[in-house]
Amino acid sequence: MWVQSDGQLGEDIYQVTTITSSHLLVIGENAAIIDTGIAATAEELIHKINEVLPDDCRLSQVFLCHDEFDHVGGIASLRKAYPGLQVMASTGVAAKLADPDFLRTSYAEQSKHAAALQQEMTIPIEEWCSLTSVDHTIKPGDHFHLGYDVEIRVIDASGYRSNQLGYYVMPDKCIVAAEAVGSYHGRDKSVPSFSDNFNDYMNTLDRIAQLDLSVVALPHAGAITGELAQKFIDQIREAATALRTNLKDRINSGEIIDNILPALIAEWDLNSLSPDGPFAGLRRKTAEGMIRQAASD
Ligand SMILES: [Zn+2]
Repeated sequence: MWVQSDGQLGEDIYQVTTITSSHLLVIGENAAIIDTGIAATAEELIHKINEVLPDDCRLSQVFLCHDEFDHVGGIASLRKAYPGLQVMASTGVAAKLADPDFLRTSYAEQSKHAAALQQEMTIPIEEWCSLTSVDHTIKPGDHFHLGYDVEIRVIDASGYRSNQLGYYVMPDKCIVAAEAVGSYHGRDKSVPSFSDNFNDYMNTLDRIAQLDLSVVALPHAGAITGELAQKFIDQIREAATALRTNLKDRINSGEIIDNILPALIAEWDLNSLSPDGPFAGLRRKTAEGMIRQAASD
């Protein structure tokens, strides 16, 4: 089943959504959230987390999948709302969030998307940049216990972004891996995102396929639950192979690469397959990356 609304997805896991993203909130004795959305939706996110958090439970950790602006934008607001919050991410993501130029560019994206939502940035640039950082670097194989047998296991989820991690939540059998699982737009409408490395992307999907899955949390549009969860990973794998073949055929038949990009985006628009909802710039970058990947060997 495709669950797009807020609510409980398993014994210890909740979906909290904002206008642009969906997030997995994991609740044991302590709570953790995976990814933080854009800055403009942070207050909405905090409000929804507070609605779900039990009185005696504290949001103690944020786990980041990757470093794109639509996943790191809310860190600063979350730190202010939950003192002592620890942000966990890969060494690659930590390095990006320690780079002043990267942070300034990300802040500019946050401001642009806030304006598109007719909102003002509530945190000034210097403060936002100083709060947007990683406290602990983590790696595939690490385990984090949240109490009451709730555990977050870290997996390699590269292929969309090379420095990306995914998180497998037990005992709820839920995988969260941002765009590593592509996107879902309804029956037979799955779009892959192998923009950084096709082979890494397929290996990530193979790793995920080997897990026992009850829930696949999508980066921006809800979660897939029940029997469809395992099937969806197979579907996205097939969609990735088919899209790569299609792109390779077009390149080999002489279609100009610069023409493939607008054609692919037009096809996605026509079939309501836009992988990143309102994030047209990211969608373009993903499409460009996948064409480059198809052209590369
Ligand atoms: Zn995203």
